Amino acid sequence: MLLTKDIDALVIHVDLKGKKVIKEDNDFVWVESQAGENWHEFVLWTISQNFGGLENMSLIPGNVGTTPIQNIGAYGTEIKDTFEYCKAIDIENQQLKTFTNEECHFGYRESIFKNSVKDRYIITSVVFKLTKHSHKINTSYGDITAELLKNNIEHPTLQDVSNAVIAIRRSKLPDPKELGNSGSFFKNPVISKTAFEPIHAKFPEMKFYEVSATEVKVPAGWLIEQAGFKGKRFGDAGIHKNQALVLVNYGSATGQQILDVSKTIQQTVFETFGISIEAEVNII
Ligand SMILES: Cc1cc2nc3c(=O)[nH]c(=O)nc-3n(C[C@H](O)[C@H](O)[C@H](O)COP(=O)(O)OP(=O)(O)OC[C@H]3O[C@@H](n4cnc5c(N)ncnc54)[C@H](O)[C@@H]3O)c2cc1C
Repeated sequence: MLLTKDIDALVIHVDLKGKKVIKEDNDFVWVESQAGENWHEFVLWTISQNFGGLENMSLIPGNVGTTPIQNIGAYGTEIKDTFEYCKAIDIENQQLKTFTNEECHFGYRESIFKNSVKDRYIITSVVFKLTKHSHKINTSYGDITAELLKNNIEHPTLQDVSNAVIAIRRSKLPDPKELGNSGSFFKNPVISKTAFEPIHAKFPEMKFYEVSATEVKVPAGWLIEQAGFKGKRFGDAGIHKNQALVLVNYGSATGQQILDVSKTIQQTVFETFGISIEAEVNII
């Protein structure tokens, strides 16, 4: 969240605690966590039980109840891969409703909770379906393999993957307790191959990843860096020196000042490459 003004409304902090296995078969466990559990501590607990599926999302800040809202993800995994259902209270009639994975309409940093039912439900708990054995270890993304090899690990466990992700994140991302930030400020733009081809012809060094037969994803951090913003500072608002996707507050920048910097970045990136980048954070 980026707060650009004071909030003149009731603010509720969901602090429901508790986690338990609610069902299991030979291969899977269904684990329910209350919304107020800290996400990273929950991930570490699942690993300690040898339950697989969440390890690549170690150290993402926030609580479990928020994870479906933007379908959090990191290092090749998103919660939609293990999310079974969540329970939520409808603010309009105080009824408890269950949302299945399909009903959440998950997409890249998207869900129904950011769109058609925005601000209507308070999520109270989330259920994940995790593996008990034959874990699908995913080391294909980012620098996980390099980090594991550095430690001479060829056959990683859930704990090894989690440790590698934690080490990489600590080396790349500023700790919000030390330097105010909300992680990636922008989403990586997904564009059609037809639109991308002429842009790529003009900027052959532009990085991209194929996401489907018709679309590619371009790293927003690369665009911002090439547009000259990495490490720049505008008063107390700035762009992180190691990760151009992260906007930082050096102390006294207001939300509005951070927003203004983000708009300057969006405009320059569009003028330079003809690509629009969208905010990932909720601007309030
Ligand atoms: C350093 C850093 C790194 C990050 N890395 C990643 C990453 O790798 N991947 C990723 O996906 N995200 C990442 N993020 C973003 C952030 O961690 C996630 O968006 C996370 O889900 C936020 O959780 P929170 O509990 O702090 O939510 P908040 O920011 O408090 O809330 C987010 C939104 O959800 C609403 N909300 C909160 N709780 C509930 C509830 N129980 N029911 C309904 N609505 C609710 C709020 O009103 C708000 O609109 C990062 C953030 C930081 C600071």
